[in-house]
Amino acid sequence: MDGTTPKNTGQKMVDPFGRHVSYLRVSVTDRCDFRCVYCMAEDMTFLPKKDVLSLEELERLCTAFISKGVRKIRLTGGEPLVRRNIMSLIRNLGRRVKDGRLDELTLTTNGSQLGKFAAELRDAGVQRINVSVDTLDPEKFQHITRWGKLDTVMAGLEAAKQAGLRIKINTVALRHVNAGEIDELIRWTGDNGFDLTLIETMPLGEIDEDRVDQYMPLSELRRDLERRWTLTDIPYRTGGPARYTEVIETGRKLGFITPLTHNFCESCNRVRLTCTGTLFMCLGQEDAADLRAPLRASDDDALLGAAIDEAIGRKPKGHDFVIDRRDQGPAVGRHMSMTGG
Ligand code: SAM
Ligand code: SF4
Repeated sequence: MDGTTPKNTGQKMVDPFGRHVSYLRVSVTDRCDFRCVYCMAEDMTFLPKKDVLSLEELERLCTAFISKGVRKIRLTGGEPLVRRNIMSLIRNLGRRVKDGRLDELTLTTNGSQLGKFAAELRDAGVQRINVSVDTLDPEKFQHITRWGKLDTVMAGLEAAKQAGLRIKINTVALRHVNAGEIDELIRWTGDNGFDLTLIETMPLGEIDEDRVDQYMPLSELRRDLERRWTLTDIPYRTGGPARYTEVIETGRKLGFITPLTHNFCESCNRVRLTCTGTLFMCLGQEDAADLRAPLRASDDDALLGAAIDEAIGRKPKGHDFVIDRRDQGPAVGRHMSMTGG
């Protein structure tokens, strides 16, 4: 190491705009057992296995981020629960929650494997999970996910409830597909004690369908919901980008993630790590830092720490998402399954 490389001294990560980075999202695999129409093309090419970090390497990266002030880690994908032996990583990171070095370890999942893993997740220290469900209609579910079965996901949700996991449902709002079903989703989540977050489609990666057609601004959806539901803004935050309301009729939270209609960047505390060790400082920008090379260059974390510091110093002010008819291409070429949302 040359004398000018800063040491990984465990100092907190603060970006050029004064935002503390305390939240790491880790996409543990780009693979998935579903092919959701807004997320992937049906015929996806996945990363060669040799490019993907081992679970031990991912854990070492997470540990480096924890030593630099990360307090919350969310595992995502692709589908995190289809990665072989993923529970070993979850158990090891869960120990950091149990000993107070992390505030929270969470997971975003499509729910297909929850029947198998729910109890183990709870036992490992996971308390909350996000499960993506865009419709309660089995045929539509199959159409949206292409390969998914609603029954399996419902059984998984039941197992998660039984295990005592707190559950938030993520629903991507799609015009002409599920925009008319949001009332039903609000009722269903209310009956089951789940919170619900609605997400706008984001222009990430080439897909087979037309994003302009799919795009449903949540400002418009919220105005419509307010004809039937009493939504009160509440200051609740999970460290993520959602802004929450309480649905007075159900007593549950309803969140809105509106990257396109509302700028959520000013309070961004997140960075995203892919399963190849690439760090994205913003979901909506191409700029990234390679952490795999410094990780593999030495067993010592000095080079890695310096690479993280350098990357945080480049975290941009915000994203450039736009979906309109003039600009039909994706804002960024990579799919959501690479960075995990
Ligand atoms: N497979 C897991 C799942 O579906 O929950 C985790 C990964 S998935 C990429 C994370 C979240 O991103 C899901 O809630 C999914 O609906 C959402 N998502 C995927 N592609 C998106 C897009 N283009 N715009 C908005 N949300 C998207
Ligand atoms: Fe898979 Fe999740 Fe993408 Fe659907 S949204 S294809 S479940 S990664």
